[in-house]
Amino acid sequence: MNITNSATNLDAVFNDGQVASYRRLLRAMLEAGLTPVLYREYAAKRDMRSILLLRHDVDSDLDAAVNMAAIEFSMGIRSTYYLLPPGDYGRRSNYYGRIVLGKVWHSRKLLAAARQLVGYGHEVGLHNDFMQLSRITGRPVATLLREELAWFRSHGIPILGSASHGSEFAKKNSVVNYEIFKGCERRGQEVGRYVVDDARKTKLHNIDMNELGLSYEAYFLSRDFAYSDSSKQVTLAGPKGYKLNNITLSVDEEFQNITDVLKGFKGARCTALVHPNWWAFRQRNG
Ligand SMILES: [Zn+2]
Repeated sequence: MNITNSATNLDAVFNDGQVASYRRLLRAMLEAGLTPVLYREYAAKRDMRSILLLRHDVDSDLDAAVNMAAIEFSMGIRSTYYLLPPGDYGRRSNYYGRIVLGKVWHSRKLLAAARQLVGYGHEVGLHNDFMQLSRITGRPVATLLREELAWFRSHGIPILGSASHGSEFAKKNSVVNYEIFKGCERRGQEVGRYVVDDARKTKLHNIDMNELGLSYEAYFLSRDFAYSDSSKQVTLAGPKGYKLNNITLSVDEEFQNITDVLKGFKGARCTALVHPNWWAFRQRNG
């Protein structure tokens, strides 16, 4: 792997404006005095404070993700990338691989990208939509999860965590994907209920993360602030209902606002969920 070469090739997906605004966003968080740490590091040492947990759910654009990884690497920042097995968006194949005969076949591109991400010092995790994968393949969630973890680990890519994907399948079944795991419960929702779809029946809150060698689910780590572009707008939500809505990332003051808010909270633990495909799309389309 040649990190220098790929780090200079930042414009493969993002244009100059996108690279510049992404750097500014990261700087705004660093200027608040936060130290970027990997999710697995925080999961192992949960008393960390003044930290930035930068995370990327790679829903569809792996090239954008690798570009983002290179930008972060050039700034000395490490982050966590969650990769999504195929099956969502009505398709049986994606950047990760394809589903054939009830199994996931991995693309060559996936392994190259995962190695590159790890080479930059980033963490790789699973973006979890395993209930839908189970429905498509006709095989149990736990088996599929075990297979994916084994595949990455056999190629020297350690996986210690997962982050739930918000698929239409999950919404339709009134479930959040993290509910496959023991202890990952939702207020007001029955623990251990079943999700029934076609002939498949999946018992929730039934998989022990420890048994799979996983140490965390991204939504179940404590935080004070959450920056996110996952809804239709960019938000920074904080303690006691505090929320910065409709953040416009083309305005200088907005970056300063982010810094000021984070700086004003002693020892802030801030998660930042940035979707690579959203970022690539955003400025191209205004
Ligand atoms: Zn997602």
